[in-house]
Amino acid sequence: MAKSGQSSFRRILLSRILLLSVPILLMGVYFTYKKAGSSLQETARQNLTESAIKKGESIRSTIEALQANLITASETVTLKSAPVQIKQKFLTELARQFEQVQCIQLTDLNSRNIIASTCGNQSINQLNRNLKVERWSQTQNLAMLDPSRVTVILASKNSPLVGNFGLGQSNDNRQLTLIFTVPVYDLQGQLRYALSLQSALLELEKPKPGSLVGYTVVIDEDGTILAHPQAERVGSRIEEEEDKDRLKSLIKNAIAGQQNFLHLFSFGKNGVELLAGYTAINSPITTDGNHKWIILAVQSRDYALSDLRELWLVLFTLTLGLIVASILASAYLARELARPVEKLRDYALQQQELHSNIPFPDNLKIREFNQLAEAIRNMVERLKAWAEELENAWKEAQTTNQLKSEFLANTSHELRTPLNIIISCIRLIRDGFCDNREEELEFLANADDAAIHLLAIIEDMLDIAKIESGKLSLLIEPINFSKLLKDAIALQAVPIQQKGLRLQVPELLEPIIVEADASKLRQVLINVLSNATKFTPEGGITVSIRIEDLEINTDNLSSSGKWVIVMVKDTGIGIAPAEQEKLFRPFVMVDGSTTREYGGTGLGLAISRNLMALMGGKITLHSDGKGCGTTVEVSLPVIDKAGFD
Ligand code: ADP
Repeated sequence: MAKSGQSSFRRILLSRILLLSVPILLMGVYFTYKKAGSSLQETARQNLTESAIKKGESIRSTIEALQANLITASETVTLKSAPVQIKQKFLTELARQFEQVQCIQLTDLNSRNIIASTCGNQSINQLNRNLKVERWSQTQNLAMLDPSRVTVILASKNSPLVGNFGLGQSNDNRQLTLIFTVPVYDLQGQLRYALSLQSALLELEKPKPGSLVGYTVVIDEDGTILAHPQAERVGSRIEEEEDKDRLKSLIKNAIAGQQNFLHLFSFGKNGVELLAGYTAINSPITTDGNHKWIILAVQSRDYALSDLRELWLVLFTLTLGLIVASILASAYLARELARPVEKLRDYALQQQELHSNIPFPDNLKIREFNQLAEAIRNMVERLKAWAEELENAWKEAQTTNQLKSEFLANTSHELRTPLNIIISCIRLIRDGFCDNREEELEFLANADDAAIHLLAIIEDMLDIAKIESGKLSLLIEPINFSKLLKDAIALQAVPIQQKGLRLQVPELLEPIIVEADASKLRQVLINVLSNATKFTPEGGITVSIRIEDLEINTDNLSSSGKWVIVMVKDTGIGIAPAEQEKLFRPFVMVDGSTTREYGGTGLGLAISRNLMALMGGKITLHSDGKGCGTTVEVSLPVIDKAGFD
């Protein structure tokens, strides 16, 4: 039944559910991922901007602290007049107090000799040779903690101390290293020494993945990179960077006072995308306060959004799980929905057999399917009932047709026999084959008998035709049943005697009044008596009559009360039980040979039953079987009960 190119309901259901659910699922996951990415980026933006501000603050406060401490130290008597060893001890102690200090040196300004140092005999830088003694001389009367006394310079990349005194790493020059120098006056107020301090302002940083502190990058407002995690970039200019335009606008914004965030694409390793928060601080190496340093907190985008990678893994696993769950759920749902349809299909397919015993699929769990199933069941039952009716009608039509064919054969035989007799008799007389008048009269009497027999057959046929078309009208009136029976027996007495049969009859002294058509009732009784005579080769016929209280349901009416029952019992050929009821149908005889042997049309009993029913009575036939004789009973309700109570 399934055609190629057609898919099953279950498969269509499954594919449609999956087609709808999986894309929605994937879209949900995609948007979740996007949303998480943008909120993580927003967090990174805020954190990196704040981190840049903090870094700037930290650099500024560290510089201020170092300047203040250096000035304080320069004012101590120890540095002014103590012996060299004490001075050395003092400087060592001082260096210990500041973590980020790489070296402190006291240089004699006259001899240019290093008096005391925490980093050996190497000079911190060339500054000492060019010390602005004049400026310091002029400013000796300024307030004690005047930061303008401190000269701050950026340690050059090539400074011998850079890289040797930090944390011992060769790339310490990534850090922002400043050299602070302050004058030291002796007790007489003469400028004697220069106290220098080299300090790395930025600690080596290694932010963890996901950390939003960021690496520190410091850019001078003139575009020089002062500190960068990649040593080779320190000292270079932003014009050399591919991201120069972005960096320039960043510097511009920072100088304008903005503290913000932007993406950089080639400011780190291998063009890795970076996120940078930025702010600006006053440059510590100029005293005018207008020159700015731009502080950047830079983090690679991948590091900053490393949580996103974890989220992606989680989402990926979740999506896979959800897709598998969705396939399983869809399969289950498709099965649950398709099962009732499949059951109904199986049921309907197997109903092709008229008498199939396939159980009806009930309890399909879904109300509409149950209703559909119920409707299908009703329809199938109705169709079956119609089919059975049609089958029966067809069988009946076939039987009737067969019976009619048999009837036609029998009837034509029955008609031909008397007609032949009539023709033969008439021809014998016409052709003068009769010897005398007596012989002629005998032939005429035979022809007359045959004609009467022929007439009886034709009347039977007319009767049954009228009965079948509902056109037979009866004259129902009260009649004396006793008298009618007596007349019928008298009419049949001669043939019974001729066959040498015994005849037993009741006395029939009392009148029994019934409502009936006298001629039709007589016809019924004569038919029963003549059958008994016809089908009894030897023995006898007993007619008896009785009155009974009966409740009888016939086709036309149900009647209770006194009934008169006439019983005609013969010792004849009998009838097999299976044949008995059929004999009341038109044209039915026990078999063709019987009919031929005994004569008849097979209409007598059918006519009798119809006539009795029309008169409110009934006729029944019973035989214990072939050769066991037959009993026929004719019953009618009695209307005049007076004589029988
Ligand atoms: P007919 O007698 O004209 O053939 P009926 O309708 O009267 O038609 O009877 C139908 C058939 O019933 C008979 O052909 C016969 O086979 C059977 N039959 C009727 N009465 C008897 C009987 N008393 N004994 C045996 N068979 C009978």
